[in-house]
Amino acid sequence: MTTVYIDVAVPVPLRQIFTYTFDTSLPAGVRVSVPFGKRHLVGVVVGQHSTVTDTARLKAISKVLDSEPVLNEVSLSLCRWLWQYYHHAPGEVLHTALPVKLRKGESAQRSTQAWYQVSAKGAQFSTDELARAPRQKLCLEQLQNAPETASHLKSRFSAAILKALEERGLIEPFTQIQSSNPQAWLNSMQISEKPRPDAEQAVAIAAINQRAGQFAPFLLEGVTGSGKTEVYLQAIETTLSAGRQVLILVPEIGLTPQTVSRFEQRFGIEVAVLHSQITDTTRVAIWQQAREGELGIIIGTRSAIFTPLKYPGMLIVDEEHDESFKQQDGLRYHARDLAVMRARKENIPLVLGSATPSLETLNNALGKRYQHLQLTQRAAGAAATMQHLLDVRDQPMRFGLAEGTLALMRQHLSKGNQVLVFVNRRGYAPALLCHHCGYTETCQRCERPYTVHRLHQRLQCHHCASTRPMPHTCQSCGAKDLVTAGVGTEQLEQGLSQLFPDAAQVRIDSDSVRGKDKLQTILNKINHQQYQLLIGTQILSKGHHFPHVTLVVVLDCDGALFSADFRAPEKLAQLVTQLAGRAGRASKPGEMWLQTHNPGHPLLQDLVNNGYAHFARHALLERKMAQLPPYSAQVVIRAEAIDAALAWRFLSQAQSALATDTLELIGPMPGLIEKRQGRFRFMLVLQSARRQQLHEHLRLALPHLSALPDASKVRWSCDVDPTDFS
Ligand code: ADP
Ligand code: ZN
Repeated sequence: MTTVYIDVAVPVPLRQIFTYTFDTSLPAGVRVSVPFGKRHLVGVVVGQHSTVTDTARLKAISKVLDSEPVLNEVSLSLCRWLWQYYHHAPGEVLHTALPVKLRKGESAQRSTQAWYQVSAKGAQFSTDELARAPRQKLCLEQLQNAPETASHLKSRFSAAILKALEERGLIEPFTQIQSSNPQAWLNSMQISEKPRPDAEQAVAIAAINQRAGQFAPFLLEGVTGSGKTEVYLQAIETTLSAGRQVLILVPEIGLTPQTVSRFEQRFGIEVAVLHSQITDTTRVAIWQQAREGELGIIIGTRSAIFTPLKYPGMLIVDEEHDESFKQQDGLRYHARDLAVMRARKENIPLVLGSATPSLETLNNALGKRYQHLQLTQRAAGAAATMQHLLDVRDQPMRFGLAEGTLALMRQHLSKGNQVLVFVNRRGYAPALLCHHCGYTETCQRCERPYTVHRLHQRLQCHHCASTRPMPHTCQSCGAKDLVTAGVGTEQLEQGLSQLFPDAAQVRIDSDSVRGKDKLQTILNKINHQQYQLLIGTQILSKGHHFPHVTLVVVLDCDGALFSADFRAPEKLAQLVTQLAGRAGRASKPGEMWLQTHNPGHPLLQDLVNNGYAHFARHALLERKMAQLPPYSAQVVIRAEAIDAALAWRFLSQAQSALATDTLELIGPMPGLIEKRQGRFRFMLVLQSARRQQLHEHLRLALPHLSALPDASKVRWSCDVDPTDFS
């Protein structure tokens, strides 16, 4: 018997593949149980060879878990790309690509279903003999007719009845693997009535359809309501009709029942939905059905990008600029970038849609690497919202609102319209201070002021979520004169109910919409005009349309102008534009007012006067001059520790290890949030105009970083193409 040397990706945080021995070949993509230290772990085979230089310490694979690969060629090569590009541990990458149940080593077979049927004896049995047990009689009669699933049967007959029949040998349980039904939608699909595309939509649909079966990335840029979803729908129709599957990624918050039902209604087929609330059992079932080519449309959030497709046809990333596509811990991948890679490997079109494309994607479109499709007209039902700046300098303010703003609100409310007030903070106020000595109540672990939550009489740290009761005296001087600073949603809600007692109002933030369907209920009430005043955070800017809103007020947009995060202006512009897009309709055009202390700021001027598209092209020029992404590539090495000096020392050692002429190293410096959960946080930014060179250099240097004396004493990580510097 010859020994085969099998390469296994083992789920440990080490950037290496491990070799094990086995007595036969194993195909890549098969899961195996392997000894690792004192444990047994579920790994995935990624390769094999017939000789190795040093066999002395190799262990044997203990068990093979699959008869055929759970990951196909494309999935495996995407994983390989992920661990190379993100410099991440291969075993952790493969685990990310698998549903939780498969990571744990459970069977990858389609689940079996329990059934009941009559036995040979039961088939002959005269049910009249059961006259005194009418429920048993009924049950047996039904099974004599045809077998039934246990779940269906149990919904009508008690366990005691089934048991009695089984003990008399009249019925028996059996199990059956759910059979697969590839391209099931082809028989059941029914296209409902659809609008005629306008000229721009027709061009976009034709462009996408023309490239079926080829790698072709598209940027579909169009303001909210311009008919992007309609373009998706018509391109999907062509794809489904050709027997090909479509995978759609959406931001977590944009995945509403309406979104899903719009797809289901158009095609008359069930749409599979994947998001963070889905159970592991459902997740693995969808994974299997998608892999066997049964599902035509799969729609999901970030990690849905790993769903295998037997008949891949098209990928869509809706709201491609959304930050939720980037994972911020563990394997810090960007699902949009992975989608580009996947479309390339699967040879299919990829549509990136947004009203406010990220500068990265826009740059690719302007540079002709992506085909640029534009929808400039709003489709039926909506009009553009006019944007204005409201100078609040020297203005008396009430609850964060200037008199001018209040006057506008009165005007719109008196006409029976709705007003939306956007504020970036939830809670009552972002700080509690002593009016006497100025002491600020601060979270010790994060060194940040606590947010005041008046309703629950508590202070909460928005960085680590720790809470404590609201104090009544100053901890420092004992004075009883505690005052709040700044304005959050809760305070705004209270203030507005004083100022506008006749307007029914609703607050929409992550505190108020907790719980299933709560947001949905609120949104329905809003659209039925049961509320006049809407107060909320980011949640309001995504995925919902408010046809009765004619005034949008943004409380404060100055923070973003002076942020240390170079993406802050881009994020602000996206937020403002998305918010504006949510309001109004043709017969009720909306207006938007941004309160600012910097009305002359060129960025704000550009945004309100020329719109996002103009702003974004201008912002790209600025990025180019500053040599910032997308004109350079970045990697952040982060380190955190309870001892600040330790984290800093590790990064300065890393800096020496990484130093080279071709690379710009910035730092070590504190993260934008310097301390979180008791740990001090520092970062070292690596930047280079040549991505390949940066990656190659990093690949060679990382083993040295791992070997640094302090490496094991700090928590450190490597973030490729970082989007968040907090
Ligand atoms: P987006 O995805 O860009 O926000 P939608 O596709 O949702 O835009 O379109 C906005 C509204 O306009 C929807 O109600 C949609 O049904 C309608 N619509 C889209 N395209 C057309 C069209 N060609 N003719 C008529 N109505 C359209
Ligand atoms: Zn804290």
